[in-house]
Amino acid sequence: MTDVDLLVTGGTVLPVDPAGTVLRDGAVAVRDGAIVAVGPAPEIAERFTPAETLDATGGLVMPGLVNTHAHLAMNLFRGTADDVSLEEFLERLLAAELALLDAAAVAVGVEAALAESIRGGVTTALDMYWFPEAASEVAARVGFRLLNGPSFMDVTDPEGRDFEARMAWAEQLLAARRDADPDAPAWVMPHSAYMLSRDQLERIRELADRFGARLHVHAAESAGEDDAVRARHGVRPLPALGAAGVLGPDTVVAHAVQLDDADLALLAETGTSVAHCPVSNLNLGCGIAPLPALLRAGVPVGLGTDGAVSAGALDMFAAIRMAALLHKGVTRDPRTVGAERAVRLATADGAAVLGLADRVGSLTVGRRADVIVCDLDGPHVAPNEDPWSAVAYGLTAADVRHTVVDGRVLMRDRMLTTIDEQSVLDRMRGLRRTQIARGERS
Ligand SMILES: [Zn+2]
Repeated sequence: MTDVDLLVTGGTVLPVDPAGTVLRDGAVAVRDGAIVAVGPAPEIAERFTPAETLDATGGLVMPGLVNTHAHLAMNLFRGTADDVSLEEFLERLLAAELALLDAAAVAVGVEAALAESIRGGVTTALDMYWFPEAASEVAARVGFRLLNGPSFMDVTDPEGRDFEARMAWAEQLLAARRDADPDAPAWVMPHSAYMLSRDQLERIRELADRFGARLHVHAAESAGEDDAVRARHGVRPLPALGAAGVLGPDTVVAHAVQLDDADLALLAETGTSVAHCPVSNLNLGCGIAPLPALLRAGVPVGLGTDGAVSAGALDMFAAIRMAALLHKGVTRDPRTVGAERAVRLATADGAAVLGLADRVGSLTVGRRADVIVCDLDGPHVAPNEDPWSAVAYGLTAADVRHTVVDGRVLMRDRMLTTIDEQSVLDRMRGLRRTQIARGERS
């Protein structure tokens, strides 16, 4: 018998491996935050003595979901810009952010967003927002796998820095992170071609290269964006990013809705990845990204929620269901995308898009133990025996029973273990009252 830290046992295990294995009455053994065995529960029980056990009886054991595009602390402004265009959304939101945000507010928003994410089975998120140090501090305390880095727009930031000062701050931040952990994933996040000049984009790419950082950028989200980018760069959004050197195998483009054939070819040729955010795209009336064409072209794709103002909730099950259904409707072909592909986009494929293919996204030996257990016995799911179908067409965020990140149990039987949920929600509501009071005074 070998000692392990954690055993997740008794449910159907869906490792999301290349073979599409489904293991009835399976178990996952975890030691030092890594998966050391996946197999039939009786066999695992004979081999390992766990310090801690998570009961998955009647449930589905699968990799934690990977959110490839979020603005976590935007949840502070939830409900303030619904049913408006992207242009109006950005105008309203940016004004509110620049006026109201500080590191303490972002920390509250991120903590609430992580409570929502952990409840909803999300274990990794790529987060583009102000005050990334505050966000990382919260994520480290909570135990969540948060990826972020300095983001850039050609505006004076909430701390009063212009673009030049922000570049200097970003360089210090990246250097400090590298010194603290040379292996930590580094990210640099130019907001978009409409928010930055060619020269600024080139300098951001150069900064990223100096620190071996990956890039995250918005592009081709709305038709209206096209005019703004043409005015600033003379070409469409993706060629503008391409000309500035921003596209490449280390770059994740959020949205990619408004694509012509040349844009598709450019994404494929450069090896650029896409974060598909169908719920946000629908809410803002941006359109429907040509996901089947992206996949056919070999573009790596993950799923994202986007921020909670445009997405409503940071709900990856909603993103999975939308990705599985939407493109069948567009193509009038029920074989398009579908359940298994949509679940892969939200797990293994999303991990690959974030450069974490060998770390997370599937339950295989050697990967970090990011594991969730979902109930399969609700009346909206029973008696579905096909786990891909259950995830894509039945399960909701509320069906997640346990969430584990890096081998640490962050939610056990729907109780968060590292977040005082009532306290953070109270603080969040307090911030909203402050926003309203300030808004009324101005
Ligand atoms: Zn976004």
